[in-house]
Amino acid sequence: MLNRRKFIASSALTAVGTYLFSKNAGDKQISADEEKVNDIASIIATWPNEKATTAAWLKLSETNYSLDAVEAGARVPEADVLDTSVGYGGYPDRDGRVTLDACIMDEKGNAGSVVFLEGIMHPISVARKVMEKTPHVMLAGGGALKFALAEGFKTENLMSDHARVTWEKWLTDNNYHPGNHDTIGILAVDAKGRLCGACSTSGWAFKMNGRIGDSPVLGAGLYVDGTVGAAACTGLGELVLKNLCTFLCVEFMRQGKSPQEAAKLAVNRLFEKIPGLANDTSKQVGIVAMNVKGEYGAWAVHDNFKYTINKEGVNTVVDSKFGK
Ligand code: ASP
Repeated sequence: MLNRRKFIASSALTAVGTYLFSKNAGDKQISADEEKVNDIASIIATWPNEKATTAAWLKLSETNYSLDAVEAGARVPEADVLDTSVGYGGYPDRDGRVTLDACIMDEKGNAGSVVFLEGIMHPISVARKVMEKTPHVMLAGGGALKFALAEGFKTENLMSDHARVTWEKWLTDNNYHPGNHDTIGILAVDAKGRLCGACSTSGWAFKMNGRIGDSPVLGAGLYVDGTVGAAACTGLGELVLKNLCTFLCVEFMRQGKSPQEAAKLAVNRLFEKIPGLANDTSKQVGIVAMNVKGEYGAWAVHDNFKYTINKEGVNTVVDSKFGK
């Protein structure tokens, strides 16, 4: 089984490599910020997310479709009770409700999204059903839940004991500020050059009830143009929403920038628009990007953003570059 996986997996990467060389070998200018321009991977995800990228890789080896891979990857932190910012175990909002946001996008530009979904462990899979089974893109709250139940998903209590205790403590000494947050954004390209992405989060810990972040909004938390590239964001969703960072990043790739340079330019737009951002470490945004050739990169507003890449089944966690 492992041999078979390894074989299929290397064929997938070889095919991506062949595609790379047949398309534009040697005709790209490499700037100082583009050190990863010729480096290719099958999968990239926000944060140290090795279990997710491994699950995505195994699924890619099984079905050879990057959409299956990104869904499988996002499902890992969704089901991980120790991950306090995605799915089960995610910190609740101020009112003690765990509300989930997720979206998925395929290589043809099809997309599905759920926002403010409660009680369903795998919002990413509901988002995929929205994409595949409805004429809509986004379902919210009770409507999203109704749809999920009709599709056979089961409701579960997603509030872990740890999340409840942390929330109760927050209620006593919070000054009413929201808490920490993270997101899994995951992008993958398969042997046929199909680029897909997924994004899932429980959003800001202790956010206002009803708050929706960037993660389920196409062009904000995730954007895929299967002819160009894809990007996913993590960090302060409000900044990402106001600047549509992933759409912008993909547009820079369309103009010929490498994924890393595109991510940097998108982050620089934030510096331009938000006075004082460079000195305000409370406001972090990280972007991961990949193009249809499997070239990848990332950039962040501040230090301490990491991302995970998977090449032929091997994960590497990388410190993202950051700043202007
Ligand atoms: N972007 C997410 C949100 O604002 C949180 C994060 O990725 O840190 O909901």
